Amino acid sequence: MLDIINDIVRVRFAPSPTGPLHLGGLRTALYNYLFAKKHRGKFILRIEDTDRQRLVPNSVSYILESLKWCKIEPDEGVGYGGPYVPYYQSKRLDIYRFYLNKLLDQDNAYYAFDTDKELNEKRKEYKNIGLTFSYNSSIRMNLNNSLYMNKQKLKIKINSGIPYVIRFKIQPGKKLKIYDLIRGNIEINTDDLDDKILLKSNGYPTYHLASTIDDYLMKITHVIRGDEWLPSMPFHLLLYRAFGWSNPKFAHLPLILKNDGLGKISKRNMSLDYPIYPLQWKKNNTTIKGYRELGYFPESIINMLALLGWNPVGVGKKEIFSKQELIHLFSLEQVSKSGIVFNFKKLKWLNKQYLTKTENIIDNIMFVLQNELTKRSIQQYNKYNNRAYLVKIIHLVIDRLYFIHDIWKHTFYFFMDPSSYEDDFFKKICNVQNLDLLEYVKKLLYNISLFNLDNLKNIFYEQIKVKRKIMELLRFALVGKLTGVNLLIILDILGKASSIRRINKLIKQIMKKL
Ligand code: GLU
Repeated sequence: MLDIINDIVRVRFAPSPTGPLHLGGLRTALYNYLFAKKHRGKFILRIEDTDRQRLVPNSVSYILESLKWCKIEPDEGVGYGGPYVPYYQSKRLDIYRFYLNKLLDQDNAYYAFDTDKELNEKRKEYKNIGLTFSYNSSIRMNLNNSLYMNKQKLKIKINSGIPYVIRFKIQPGKKLKIYDLIRGNIEINTDDLDDKILLKSNGYPTYHLASTIDDYLMKITHVIRGDEWLPSMPFHLLLYRAFGWSNPKFAHLPLILKNDGLGKISKRNMSLDYPIYPLQWKKNNTTIKGYRELGYFPESIINMLALLGWNPVGVGKKEIFSKQELIHLFSLEQVSKSGIVFNFKKLKWLNKQYLTKTENIIDNIMFVLQNELTKRSIQQYNKYNNRAYLVKIIHLVIDRLYFIHDIWKHTFYFFMDPSSYEDDFFKKICNVQNLDLLEYVKKLLYNISLFNLDNLKNIFYEQIKVKRKIMELLRFALVGKLTGVNLLIILDILGKASSIRRINKLIKQIMKKL
């Protein structure tokens, strides 16, 4: 059970600025946000930038913009301020050093002077006899560290400027029972843990030390993070104990798997057949498009990510949830334990649902459509008095749109004669017989005195022979391919003169090829 009655819930999203936020990170942020809002708590953004080698410029602004676009903004943290500033870990080094000294004083941590070369040799040595080297209680007394040095010798060594790290001294032979809100009870033996580094030789703390101290100082009640951190949990709990602090509750979220179910999606994985970033990301000279640029609504992304690893109860087959509904329903108890495959098709479908639900959607689509018309200098439709015409066209195709910017590809033929013909079908129809059919239908249209939908229906449904063939040819003449809305509606909207002009154009093109 979540013992959250007495505590004000405080959760944090703590990304490392090592590149753009990907879907997995965004889902972690979302679950933290939903959990905080559900319990009227606080959602905090902390930037974990102590791994100086892996920093990537612009990551932080990208993270902030992504959260803003998705409307899951922090209450506190980088970019938002709050009672525990600074929220950048690189600006909190003195704090970590202060607490680290406590661990050293209590003999819970020690200096290690082993060089990379020495450690690599050890690793090799172990590998040769089929073992894995681990810096732990079984071997630490034989390595180059302060455990066997007296205070004076240690002081001299440190003052000599030799690089060192500080490691956590794990007590061997202890059984550790840990509890994860999603995974349940886990038992581990401290013999299986290594003496992890707390302070690196460049003076920066490792993630383990910094995030534990910050979670404590920032009064985090629930640590909700990706599954990849589950193996670090015992170590973090031991750190809490060493400091004499009570620990927050932990919840490790299932991995988001690649389509084939093999391996998790990550920043390094760009070979997926769907985008992995919410917003576009510029790297050197290339720009990787994000969901925003591709025309997705943040609401569909949030809806999809919420259901990626969490099953709301009591909602039947409902799949579309507003943010308020998600907040109301969210519970860590219904988060799945196992990895989950991201369903891109479903996201597209969701976007379509949101498109029809969005307020002012017609105005938004019209804005895009008018831009397309202006771009092509099709001025006569870009005027205020043609609003009714544009609205009519938009209504005809709105059910076909997945994205607002799809509007042009579904409506261009209402505004311009085909500028080209779809190749394969054009080749197929290049013969005299089709010319005759086009002439026949042209005459038929020409003779309709009242060119409206009723009369068109009457003629096309009652009088025409070889109907399917003719309808196909006519559609091709009007649209340039075999797509589009109901043919008779197209004819009605284009009117007699434009329709005949387009038929003539196709006749001319076929004749050129004969
Ligand atoms: N800085 C870690 C990351 O970027 C956060 C892990 C955590 O939430 O504790 O994945």
